[in-house]
Amino acid sequence: GPSSGIDYRAELNDEQFAAVTSPPGAALVIAGAGSGKTRTLTYRVAYLLDHDVEARNILLLTFTNKAAREMTERVRHLVPHDVSALWSGTFHSIGNRILRRHAEVLGFTKSFSILDRDDQKSLLTGVIASLEIDTKIRRFPKPDVLATMFSLVENTGESLESIIRHRYPYFEEWQSEIHRAQAGYAKRKKDTNSMDFDDLLVLTLRLFQQDEELLGLYRKRFRHILVDEYQDTNAVQSELIDLLAGGGASVMAVGDDAQSIYSWRGADMGNILSFPERHAGCHVHKIETNYRSVPEILDLSNAAIRANRARFDKDLRSAREQLGVKPALVPLEDPATQASFVAQRMLELRDEGIPLEEMAVLYRAHFQSLEIQMELTTRGIPFAITSGLRFFEQAHIKDVAAFLRFVTNRRDETSFKRIALLMPGIGAAGADKLWRDWVKSGWAEKDEVPAWSEVLSGMKPPKKAAKHWEQFGYILDELTPNGEFARPPDMIFSVLEGMYDDHLRASYDNYENRRSDIEQLMTYGANFEDVLDFLSQLSLLSAADGEPTGDRAEKDDEKVTLSSIHQAKGLEWKVVFVIWLADGQFPNGRILEADDPDQLEEERRLFYVAITRAKDELYLTYPLINPKSYTGDIIQRPSRFLDDFPRQLVEEWRITPEWGNPDDPF
Ligand code: ATP
Ligand code: MG
Repeated sequence: GPSSGIDYRAELNDEQFAAVTSPPGAALVIAGAGSGKTRTLTYRVAYLLDHDVEARNILLLTFTNKAAREMTERVRHLVPHDVSALWSGTFHSIGNRILRRHAEVLGFTKSFSILDRDDQKSLLTGVIASLEIDTKIRRFPKPDVLATMFSLVENTGESLESIIRHRYPYFEEWQSEIHRAQAGYAKRKKDTNSMDFDDLLVLTLRLFQQDEELLGLYRKRFRHILVDEYQDTNAVQSELIDLLAGGGASVMAVGDDAQSIYSWRGADMGNILSFPERHAGCHVHKIETNYRSVPEILDLSNAAIRANRARFDKDLRSAREQLGVKPALVPLEDPATQASFVAQRMLELRDEGIPLEEMAVLYRAHFQSLEIQMELTTRGIPFAITSGLRFFEQAHIKDVAAFLRFVTNRRDETSFKRIALLMPGIGAAGADKLWRDWVKSGWAEKDEVPAWSEVLSGMKPPKKAAKHWEQFGYILDELTPNGEFARPPDMIFSVLEGMYDDHLRASYDNYENRRSDIEQLMTYGANFEDVLDFLSQLSLLSAADGEPTGDRAEKDDEKVTLSSIHQAKGLEWKVVFVIWLADGQFPNGRILEADDPDQLEEERRLFYVAITRAKDELYLTYPLINPKSYTGDIIQRPSRFLDDFPRQLVEEWRITPEWGNPDDPF
């Protein structure tokens, strides 16, 4: 028998079992929410290990860092094998890992910096300035817009020309300038030894396309490629998988077309639909049992998604018993009342014995969580938030990281300037000049580590900044003792004590909080020996669309979760609240205006993803009035998604003013 001792027959249903034990070759599992697709992948990994496949021959791709971690943990739990050589992560993190080894092939060095949105914007600002466009006649797209355009090109495989024509017709007159900006941006990235997030995918693909020998090595290594949430892959991702698998590896993809929610970012549902055609001999498995939700919730989900025309028919049967409680439909007066209802109900449920970490509030857009955040804070209900500005994106965290980034990548203009701008008397022009001085010194290109203080003292910052500049040199010396990199927490400490603490005190009224954030960062950094690993991890975490980060989310005990629906993909909770179910909020107003049936269907899939996260109890709430200070109150219509199912599937709650907290005077 298998050395793990797993009884695969007993722990899987027939369809899952067939997929888990399928012979080498391509396999696709296409099945609805909660049917055990992720479980199937996990058991597949265990099964392979049980059958003498080495961990190092397995590549496991998932959509979020959290999902990757959880799946590896599950596998570790299931089997006695050592799985440390197994590669598992998001497409971006795997791309990063590969590029860190071979960046030279593409003309970068291994210590390239990863640009986040802010870095991209500052690079693009420079590019636009260098184009010397007369924007007085007509507005030129802002850096943010350009970044999105270029990203769409990378992720959809469409030409820039077509992206502009179809999505930005307003800017068509700038065609040639935008093309020049794109070229300038690419050049700047190369010059500064930096990659943006799309590059982590695109350049990995290019690496393998250019270097057949290297491709051969990786093909030999990854004999089994497993992909979760395959319905949300874009052109680059699916091409990368196909290319890696091209040497005869077995690919197993699992997904659900009804949960495809990233087309706005270039994901293509067509990838999953055409998978069998692209992989000869592919076995297609369908699972029709849902193990997650009680029948009451499942009936509602089946009915809700039936309103979509573009989909595979696949009604799910619940494996669970009726609970006897229908999903609740709860109209509320306004957003504050909605927040107070959710918080109050959570406390009641906790009194009934449901732990807080089994509850989640899901919404379409981050800003819709504001009232809930305030209400939970007031009532002292702890929460982890998985959307919006996160720990690693905050200015002070990025400031500190800039020192580490610059010292590891001396061509990183963005980080250098970010640091220079922290010093008194230095503005954009000053930072520019210092950068040019730095480049002139020749040290940006050399291999050995400079005697920083000495080199920097040869440059001329404005008088006001002289003291800081000198300090900067000392700090850099401390970051590279004996020409080697110090450990990440020691580096952060040097930056903080050498310069940054003063800056914090002088710049922010919430100094204490920010200081403790940085101490938090030190604690986190202590997990890393290598500063490059640390910096990669920071970049990957902050780009991942709001994954829980920082202390508040690291230990998920006794906290409710607030999450955007996009980030809740693949997860489950006993109790789920879906809020702001009003037309114009969810579905989103812009999409209603566009009057595009495809976009509305994607919006409905998002609703389907939301309600299928719930195991036992589901609350659908909406505020009737949306108070707006500038236009007066707006009366809202309940979401049209609530008309998609028969009313007897839900229980309508009437919340009277007396309900809830007796001290609450509303
Ligand atoms: P989603 O589409 O939301 O990603 P999924 O298809 O990946 O869902 P899983 O998350 O793998 O579904 O499974 C949903 C729940 O059902 C999990 O709690 C899982 O442990 C449980 N489950 C799945 N299959 C079985 C089974 N055969 N026996 C018992 N429990 C199961
Ligand atoms: Mg899943």
